[in-house]
Formats: sequence, C-alpha cells, structure tokens
Amino acid sequence: MLKIDMHTHIIPKNMPNWTEKFGYGDFIYLQHHREGSAKMMKGNQFFREIQANCWDAELRIEEYKVFNTQVQVVCTIPVMFSYWANPDDCLDLSMFLNDHIAQLVTDYPKNYVGLGTIPMQDTDLAIEELGRCKEIGLKGVQIGSNINNQNLSEGRFFPIFEACEELDMAVMVHPWEMMGMRYMTKYWLPWLVGMPAETTRAICSMIFSGVFEKLPNLRVNFAHAGGSFMATVGRIEHGFNCRPDLVAIDNDVNPRNYIGKFWVDCITHDCDMLEYILKKQSSKKITLGSDYPFPLGDLKIGKFIEEMPLEKETVEDIFCNSTLEWLKINKEDFL
Ligand SMILES: [Zn+2]
Repeated sequence: MLKIDMHTHIIPKNMPNWTEKFGYGDFIYLQHHREGSAKMMKGNQFFREIQANCWDAELRIEEYKVFNTQVQVVCTIPVMFSYWANPDDCLDLSMFLNDHIAQLVTDYPKNYVGLGTIPMQDTDLAIEELGRCKEIGLKGVQIGSNINNQNLSEGRFFPIFEACEELDMAVMVHPWEMMGMRYMTKYWLPWLVGMPAETTRAICSMIFSGVFEKLPNLRVNFAHAGGSFMATVGRIEHGFNCRPDLVAIDNDVNPRNYIGKFWVDCITHDCDMLEYILKKQSSKKITLGSDYPFPLGDLKIGKFIEEMPLEKETVEDIFCNSTLEWLKINKEDFL
C-alpha cells in the first residue's frame, strides 16, 4: 500500500545569514557546531537543536522507509515564515526556501512532493510567489494559522485564497505564533495548548468569514487533525445558533456544513480521537501526516492506524488517496 506522509518539515543545510544580509531582525540561521547536528539560532538566541534529518534528503528516505513510507510531502519549518519581516526580505527568504524544495523534488521525484512558503504579510507579493511556486513544480503552500496576529478572515488574505483556487494550488494551514505564548512559557504549553487552539482559530476564521463558501474549490488541509476544532464543533455550532448576531455576521451557513469539505491530517496520537474524526470527516478527508522529524510528531508514521481494526479501504484512503486528491497528484507517479 502506498504511504504518503503529507506533513513533514525540511530546511536547507546552508542558508544565508539573513540578519546580516538585511541588517535587522532575528532571522533563523543554523550553526553547524558538530557533524549531523545544528543549533537553530533566532538572531543570537538559541531556538532549538536539530539533527541532519532536518536537511539530509537521503537520510530522511532511509528513516521513513523503516515505516513503509514511500513519499514525503515537505514544507518549511513554521519558524521560517518570517511574516514579521519587511515583505521584500520575506519574499527573498521564501524564494530561497522554495527553490531548495523545488530542487529536492526534481532530484527525487518519487520520494518528495513540495509545498512552498509565501510572504503572507503582503498580498501582492504573496500571490506573485504563489504563481512562481506553481511554475517550479510545488503543489501548494503552507501558511500560518495567523499572520502577525491577523486572522485568516481578514479581507487582505482573501485574494491569496482566491489565487490558490484559481491556480489550483493546495493550502496547508499550520499553527504558529501561538496565542498566549508569553503567558504560558512553562510546560511547553504553547505547543500543547496553543497549537490546537491556533488551528481552531484558523478554521473558524475561514468558515465564518465565508472563505469556504465563496471558494468551494479551494483545497485546504489543517494540521494536527484540525487542532481542537473537531472536539469543540458542537460548542461552535451552538454559538452560531444562539448568537448569530456575533457569529453569523459574514456567513449564515452552519459551521458544521463545512466538515468534510476540507482535509485534516491524522496526527492525534489517540485511536479514539481518530475514530471520532473518521466519523465526522470520512476517510476521504483524513491524510497521513507525521510532523517528521520533530519529537511531538507521530514518528512511527501511522503505525497506530495499522494496528487499529479498520477496513483496508479506510486505511488506504488515509495513507494515500486523500493526499493524492488534496494535492491533485497521481499515484502512478510514485510507483
Ligand atoms: Zn508541523
């Protein structure tokens, strides 16, 4: 059975020092302080230690092969988004990252599929780079759950979504710049509490502002099984019904109607939760994701799904069919 892991992150081994190049800001750069390991620095501050599987294409293939995975969909690490930067500089950085992924896909067409990053803080530049991403062979883009604290419901983002639909480019929404981050520095709470809330924020913003209503062919996938959205959809619907004056001001369609119209990945770490989401979304709209190579991901790449008592067709949908449909790619290209 073909296994495509659609949620993985990659970064070029060597990148310019953008802080020096642009003369400001805390851009990310890598300090290769020993073989196979690098310090990810945010300006002069240590951000995270990463290993060679963050950049080494062949090492990654060896690692994911162990879990019978044949293809990885790759996108950048969200800390690279740099939406806070001057738009031209963010474009420069995005182009560098996108060219790197395009080269990887050219070199390993059976092992990698690419998603780009675009300067969301500037509508025109974002659309320009989106078009270029398509030209260089990427199948979509990954965007943040908020853009400098602006929600995806803001009118300035709509033309970008419109362009994604028009150009047939898929969208992956990934939580980043988590809400409340500075008030919950202990216990890794931004990752455990903030991220699921961020994804819900993105889904609700896109539903309530009518993005999905106006762009029925836009193909969006939300990370981490849609965050806490699926678990709280009853509350969200009830809010829509009891306070339409607050909730239904831009779109009067029940939020529940959009379930099954977008995709979510399967990263739940919990069989019961996956069964619940299967019931809500159907297997056609759940994609295999791992968040490789990071420790909070499902680094056994869907092994828990193989161990669940599911129909073969259901597993096949999750492992490949849903992703093939989300990205409009063909199974034959990977066999
Ligand atoms: Zn991720």
